[in-house]
Amino acid sequence: MLHFRLVTLLLLLISLPVARSQSVSLLPRPIKALLVCGGCCHDYDVQKTVLKAGIEARARVIVDTVQQGGTARESKIPLYADPLWARGYDVILHDDCFGMVDDTNWVAEILAPHRAGIPGVNLHCAAHSYRMAPDLEWPKYLGIRSLKHGPASPIEVRSLAVTHPILAGLSWRDWETGKEELYNNFTIYETSLALQRGRQGTEDCVVTWVNNYGKTRVFSTTLGHFNETVSDPRYLELVTRGLLWACDRLNADYLRPIPVIPTAKPQF
Ligand SMILES: [Zn+2]
Repeated sequence: MLHFRLVTLLLLLISLPVARSQSVSLLPRPIKALLVCGGCCHDYDVQKTVLKAGIEARARVIVDTVQQGGTARESKIPLYADPLWARGYDVILHDDCFGMVDDTNWVAEILAPHRAGIPGVNLHCAAHSYRMAPDLEWPKYLGIRSLKHGPASPIEVRSLAVTHPILAGLSWRDWETGKEELYNNFTIYETSLALQRGRQGTEDCVVTWVNNYGKTRVFSTTLGHFNETVSDPRYLELVTRGLLWACDRLNADYLRPIPVIPTAKPQF
């Protein structure tokens, strides 16, 4: 009897690591994302770190970052000189600010992987990068063409398409940001769908939307000028859900639970 129990125990111990490795192997491969940042007017040194940590904490995504181009609006960054610049990545996040680059051939190189089906996520000044290239291919990829922005002051953000998967599971609906920049909507292409609008003074514009660029999913938000906005949990949740939706993987296999920090009750 003792011998039987020992054998049973040994079998159990042997089977444990196998069971553990099997459970690990059931998890999906993490999404590989490339965050491209650099250019004018923004604190990309801080924002690239905040975005990487914020996204990786919220989803099974590994974010690699490339920061190039210094602080100039006219930089053609070395990354895009390689025709295979996006190879190995499941999604690209554009968080750059190169508004004076208007070379259509250069923009075509940037858009090549997206035309081939790699999803895109575009943050803030990415909506102004490449917007002056004459063929307007970058704004068509985005779904909205913006040409200017308002002052640095709060934006009242409100959600519209609340049944869209990105918003349906979002923990917030409305948000009055701190100081931010409201980008205008010069052209709204019919391939896009507005998710959120923002009001700043008398201006009221789409600030978050999705687009179909051919068969490629594209998510964009023009929010994200200041570090306070980018590091806000509401922003990081929105961007993470947008990224997962663009990859068609907005589901429980990829979302990580974020611990809810209870709001402190006022002391009287
Ligand atoms: Zn800005």
